[in-house]
Amino acid sequence: MARDRETEVLVVGAGPVGLFTGLVLAERGIQVEIVEEEWRSTARSYALALHPYSLKLLDDLGMARELIEKGHQLYALAFYQEGERQVQLSYSQLPSPFPFILVLPQQALEEALVKRLKKKKVKVEWNHRVDAIESDSRGVHAHIQRLRKESTGYIVSGTEWMVDKSFTTKARFIVGADGHRSVVRRQLGIDFPEVAQPLLFAVFEFDAERHPEHEVRIVLDNGQTNVLWPMRGGRFRWSFQLESAAKFADPRVKSRLAVQVGGRSYPHLGKEELQQLIGQRAPWFDSPIGDVAWSIAIKFEFRLADSLGKDRIWLVGDSAHLANPVGVQSMNVGFREAHQLTSVLADALRSKDPFANLVSGEAARAGQDPLLDYERKRLAEWGQLLGLRGAPQPGELATDWTRRHAPRMLPCIPASGEDLSLLLKQAGLELPAGG
Ligand SMILES: Cc1cc2nc3c(=O)[nH]c(=O)nc-3n(C[C@H](O)[C@H](O)[C@H](O)COP(=O)(O)OP(=O)(O)OC[C@H]3O[C@@H](n4cnc5c(N)ncnc54)[C@H](O)[C@@H]3O)c2cc1C
Repeated sequence: MARDRETEVLVVGAGPVGLFTGLVLAERGIQVEIVEEEWRSTARSYALALHPYSLKLLDDLGMARELIEKGHQLYALAFYQEGERQVQLSYSQLPSPFPFILVLPQQALEEALVKRLKKKKVKVEWNHRVDAIESDSRGVHAHIQRLRKESTGYIVSGTEWMVDKSFTTKARFIVGADGHRSVVRRQLGIDFPEVAQPLLFAVFEFDAERHPEHEVRIVLDNGQTNVLWPMRGGRFRWSFQLESAAKFADPRVKSRLAVQVGGRSYPHLGKEELQQLIGQRAPWFDSPIGDVAWSIAIKFEFRLADSLGKDRIWLVGDSAHLANPVGVQSMNVGFREAHQLTSVLADALRSKDPFANLVSGEAARAGQDPLLDYERKRLAEWGQLLGLRGAPQPGELATDWTRRHAPRMLPCIPASGEDLSLLLKQAGLELPAGG
């Protein structure tokens, strides 16, 4: 095993939330290292929208303008049923410096974050996997494997990842931003229970001859949720909720064209299936369709970790929660978590005795431990967002349609915190209490 390395904070995972966490820490003058088991950032658009509050956080890092230039702004969200527009929510009315949703492919965001980290001299260690974590009174030790691609031999040529070198990084804190199968969470022994039934979606990104639109449309028909996202440059994304993927996967091409994500294979869907679904669920979308850039049938789970961490090891992003993809909440609320957590960690690391007011002890007993406060606030918010505290409550302004659909509307709105409350208010709804 190679010699130990040392850093103040080790971030595990270079997804959008891990990269953001590393950058905020670096901005606060904290020594940070990011390790990522993959060899590069995401190659597709996946979580494709930034909430107004995320833009504010990114603006604090001096990144909002550059991202806005690369994205497409949406000023409204509309709910449809049976071809009729039922409710419209106006983002333009939000008292935010960025009163819109920014549609921006996840890979463009990640690329910009990596570039900014480079400027701050923070290196992302690609091909580095955290294998195990140990703690003692002075810090935490992450066992890290450096991976290298090797040829698998001569019968069928190919390559696979081998462990090239192992070493330990000692850190004062570890932040687990390592996604839904988080090693960090598992090392802490934190449960990650399902809180609702998973939903299956067929997702298509394609070009269409259609005027650029500035509204996201959500069609709630027959108990299913379908979403149309206008993107930049004549590109669109349709996400259709499915009952079963098998019906839409073409067995002749499935194995050849299946999409690989995180080591798993997902069925491929083509233009024919896209046209079929549009015909059934949104016949008003009658524009000629060009190339399908990518497509996938994918199951989204709903999970919430029982705890967000302990002592010197804390979780952010998908490692702690999985939410409805329509509201793009897991990534965006992940940024807010990272913002709060990094502020607590930076304060602790810059104080004379970093652990005087942290990590259990007197402060915790008095209910003032900022890390426990982080956990309490964030879990309470997730309770609201995942509908565990009940549905939004209708007020006088709520229409019959809104009253009936309030529980389904909540996870579809790309916003959180005060912005989400204000958008719901436009529809005559109020968030249930968070605590
Ligand atoms: C096909 C697809 C479509 C999606 N569409 C949507 C959508 O429409 N809306 C939406 O909100 N969300 C969507 N998502 C989910 C969205 O991408 C995630 O919510 C978002 O990426 C979460 O960011 P994160 O940084 O928390 O975690 P991740 O992006 O999962 O990043 C975690 C990183 O940690 C790395 N890692 C894991 N274990 C280790 C280890 N032991 N050592 C080192 N590194 C490790 C992983 O390789 C990964 O890069 C989609 C995802 C997929 C795959």
